[in-house]
Amino acid sequence: MILRSAATLQASSWQKDLSEAITDSKELCRHLNLTDQDLIQANMASQQFALKVPRPFANRMEKGNPKDPLFLQIWPQGQELTTQINYLTDPLGEKAASPQVGVIHKYHGRVLLIGSPTCAINCRYCFRRHYPYEENMLNTEQYQAAFNYIQQETSIAEVILSGGDPLVSSNKRLAWVVTQLEAIPHVKRLRIHTRLPIVIPNRVDDGFLSLLQQTTLQTVIVVHSNHSNEIDSSVSTALTALRQVCTVLNQAVLLKQVNDNKQALTNLNIKLFEAGVLPYYLHLLDKVHGAAHFDIPEADAIALVKELSHQLPGYLVPKLVREDAGAKSKTLIAIN
Ligand SMILES: *Cc1c(COP(=O)(O)O)cnc(C)c1O
Ligand code: SF4
Repeated sequence: MILRSAATLQASSWQKDLSEAITDSKELCRHLNLTDQDLIQANMASQQFALKVPRPFANRMEKGNPKDPLFLQIWPQGQELTTQINYLTDPLGEKAASPQVGVIHKYHGRVLLIGSPTCAINCRYCFRRHYPYEENMLNTEQYQAAFNYIQQETSIAEVILSGGDPLVSSNKRLAWVVTQLEAIPHVKRLRIHTRLPIVIPNRVDDGFLSLLQQTTLQTVIVVHSNHSNEIDSSVSTALTALRQVCTVLNQAVLLKQVNDNKQALTNLNIKLFEAGVLPYYLHLLDKVHGAAHFDIPEADAIALVKELSHQLPGYLVPKLVREDAGAKSKTLIAIN
């Protein structure tokens, strides 16, 4: 077992990595030795949804390669500005399912709590790229109202902290949220959906690990990684540390040119498992305005996951899912 070394993990502070994220397209191109990128288009697209990539993630991109699978996930492209029929700003109908600011309650027994206004990284394909995070940034009073809602809905056994990325919040804030949830008897499980352990692995610091270790709730962390190049040794170390205190799963999005081939998905799931992480969902792209160029036809996705299942043990094959507005769960897509 690889033991976490505090010295390696906490050499630089994650807050610094967050605040020093690259947000300027020209700077990113210089950083990556890219010369021919269309900066005018990039700047136009980033006015709709800002370019944002922390350096620890950018440093895993191959220099001089405009097709790098990590670069493609964050680079604003002119194609985002084209309107496509059926690609909406709120594809999952989340506004309709929000009984309370910051709360999305669609499925039985579990509720999403969106407490944090930002993510560490802006993924171009994000289904919440048009989500009004600023309006949903919870102050203490609104948190209290959210907790009251959860308290009254006794069917809720699981609270999912989701994105914006909940780990953008400080450990102190998280600890307060956890304490409030622990006080609600029917809440048994805490789930955290986060990309931060992948993007800025330093975020998995001692304070966060001990918070997970000490809570009376059962804990699950669902990270989000789409390509094995995202997982360098510092990410593996962070994931391994998390694995020692809770269950760790991964969800990925199937993305054209990024991971839409058998080899990429095989490598991803093997690499994750080496760090103790099991695959959970492989999502078909949500049809959000601005992301159509990442979309893969469902039939191709089925064929691909079928090939994957011929390649890997069953537990390393993610469930292929689609999200349909109004449905009672994610829609599982059969591969046979
Ligand atoms: C995806 C999602 C969940 C979690 O669903 P699981 O299938 O349990 O992972 C819960 N609430 C909402 C609104 C979701 O979109
Ligand atoms: S980290 Fe997740 S929520 Fe944040 S931009 Fe990326 S896909 Fe969207």
